[in-house]
Amino acid sequence: MKPRKIPLRKCVACQQMMPKKQLIRVVRTPEDEVLIDLSGKKSGRGAYLCGQVSCFKLAHKNRALDRALKATVKPEIYEQLARDFIAVEDEFTAMANQESDDDE
Ligand SMILES: [Zn+2]
Repeated sequence: MKPRKIPLRKCVACQQMMPKKQLIRVVRTPEDEVLIDLSGKKSGRGAYLCGQVSCFKLAHKNRALDRALKATVKPEIYEQLARDFIAVEDEFTAMANQESDDDE
């Protein structure tokens, strides 16, 4: 049995290719809302970030998220995303650690 191929995505901030599961998806919905999509299933244009606040901050600083989403992300949206990011970070890290036991 071959292992299932893991889909890789690139973090828009640090440009690292990572398994999709270890990235947080940010989506711009057809209604032009920008939100964190932990389910990975919302429709719209998506961008991926490592589940780390440092990468989120980098994406903010160099506008990588704006470019990836092809939209200008307003400062108040960044603030909201930053709060959401911090809120999901622990949960996300716990999930990622469970999945990546055989990684190292
Ligand atoms: Zn990153």
